[in-house]
Amino acid sequence: MAEQLALGEERTAVAKFGRELVEKDLTSGVGGNLSQRDDERVAISPSGIPYDRIDAEDVPVVTVDGEHVEGDLRPSSETPMHTMIYRKRPDVGAVVHTHSPYATTFASLGQEIPASHYLVEFAGGTEIPVADFDLPGSEELGQHAVDALGDDYNGCLLQNHGVIAVGDTVSRAVETAQMIEFTARIHYQASNIGEPIILEDEKIEALLDGLEEYRSLK
Ligand code: 13P
Ligand code: ZN
Repeated sequence: MAEQLALGEERTAVAKFGRELVEKDLTSGVGGNLSQRDDERVAISPSGIPYDRIDAEDVPVVTVDGEHVEGDLRPSSETPMHTMIYRKRPDVGAVVHTHSPYATTFASLGQEIPASHYLVEFAGGTEIPVADFDLPGSEELGQHAVDALGDDYNGCLLQNHGVIAVGDTVSRAVETAQMIEFTARIHYQASNIGEPIILEDEKIEALLDGLEEYRSLK
């Protein structure tokens, strides 16, 4: 039973929300990965396994330094990026990485997504920033993600690659990944018809002040 597994709650959440990534069209095939931590240990999706085949006991556990300590399957190749984010951001309890198509379109242009929809607020700033490119799985990519997220962002694009979303739980991080994809889609569609109106920074900042309260109502 999941309760008897080491880090059972976190491994169960990783298995459950991995399936949600597919159901919500945030990733396809084996693209992307997700993790949830419990202090110094991290439950992270296994590398290269379709999400519908991952159960809690299949989810590997690593330390925040990246050492594989539980589970038979190989941890995600993006373990360095996840653990670097946890080491830099004590407020982060979960990391989700997707290749969702609209957001990745902007990532491939190296373009941040401006506030043409107010839900940009879910990424924690007045726009969704872009982390520089480096090879998938590399520490360099992890460092670029850490730099783009800084202390305050909950999400960023990975140039020519995809999306990172973080949160206190994997449920929150998946929701943020979904909002990033929605914001990207609206910006793409609006740009195709005309010139999107970009909301003023002050308006988004005012929304950011109320975001935590809004999310805690749910
Ligand atoms: P993993 O299957 O190793 O997690 O890799 C998927 C991915 O998106 C790499 O960036
Ligand atoms: Zn990826």
